[in-house]
Amino acid sequence: MSRFLSARFADLEAYVPGEQPQDMKYVKLNTNESPFPPAPAVLEAINAAEIDRLNLYPDPEGKALREKLAEHYGVKMENVFLANGSDELLNFFFMTFCDEEKPVAYPAVSYGFYPVYASLYRLPHAEIPLREGFRLEPDDYCGIGKNIVIANPNAPTGRAISVDDIERIVKSSPDHVVMIDEAYIDFGGESCLPLVEKYENLLVCQTFSKFRSLAGGRLGFAIASPALIEDLDKIKYSTNSYNINRLTMAAAIATIESNDYYAGNSQKIQANRAYTIEELAKLGFETLPSKANFIFTRCPRVPGGKLYRDLKARGVLVRHWEKPEIADWCRVTIGSREQMDIFLEKVREIVKEAE
Ligand code: PMP
Repeated sequence: MSRFLSARFADLEAYVPGEQPQDMKYVKLNTNESPFPPAPAVLEAINAAEIDRLNLYPDPEGKALREKLAEHYGVKMENVFLANGSDELLNFFFMTFCDEEKPVAYPAVSYGFYPVYASLYRLPHAEIPLREGFRLEPDDYCGIGKNIVIANPNAPTGRAISVDDIERIVKSSPDHVVMIDEAYIDFGGESCLPLVEKYENLLVCQTFSKFRSLAGGRLGFAIASPALIEDLDKIKYSTNSYNINRLTMAAAIATIESNDYYAGNSQKIQANRAYTIEELAKLGFETLPSKANFIFTRCPRVPGGKLYRDLKARGVLVRHWEKPEIADWCRVTIGSREQMDIFLEKVREIVKEAE
């Protein structure tokens, strides 16, 4: 720390992203990326003509892409906001809607960036414990008088709640914004997007990083009432008006046009998820029911930290946190069948050693 850092940030604990080894020698099951490349149309969209135009700024309104998303989801362009990854969207949410008088609540076990933003903006916040088996109880959020952020499906657990439950929460807090982070919604979950036209306080957040194989392009988006989008825009234009680059916008339009390709990939991932859970069960693992492209699992004989380290030593990366409530568990991204077979082979070796 230099002596110049603002005192406001002296105690800030920054978010720690998952490992991103650049030599690619690992079977990478640690940050929930898709194992599949972008659709062929995406490669065509990022062509020489598009690169030639990189001397010009991108459209700050991102109109072409917002129109594409609006058409895809049956909403209006005024309902759509673009961000540089959904992480940036989360940043805008906390900056735009939360303050001393408008505290924020989120589950105590959830995406690790929520507490970081709460701390960055010095927000009064409530971390609401999950129930038995990491189950999120919707009643715990009803009418609590705070803005709310819920990842659905939740991360790192993979558990989902129903659209009816979300509606109950949104309805019970008409004076607060409820943000539903649907980063993992396209792997068997049920999106609450249809509720947007009914509730002006609901903000749904999605990403191109998982289902749409575009983590490297950095694109997230929100769908919400035009008034909420206008508020987000105000903050965006006060921080970084050109937040989405040209190539990502071109790639994203081609992505939406290739929806069938991605839906097919999701089917494969869901099949690999069922297969992996079944194979792990044969080894005595306990795995939470998952609607995401990852599973949260624990081995009765091998502690989470050891499993993570032993897998890494064998060339397989998964995610583990030292936080006491979840220290027994590992989060494993569901990749291709080949990747899952390598993972399972290494797990079998590690379990055998522990016998
Ligand atoms: N929300 C959740 C629940 C996540 O797990 C992640 C990915 N780590 C994000 C948002 C952010 O994803 P991105 O910034 O790549 O869109």
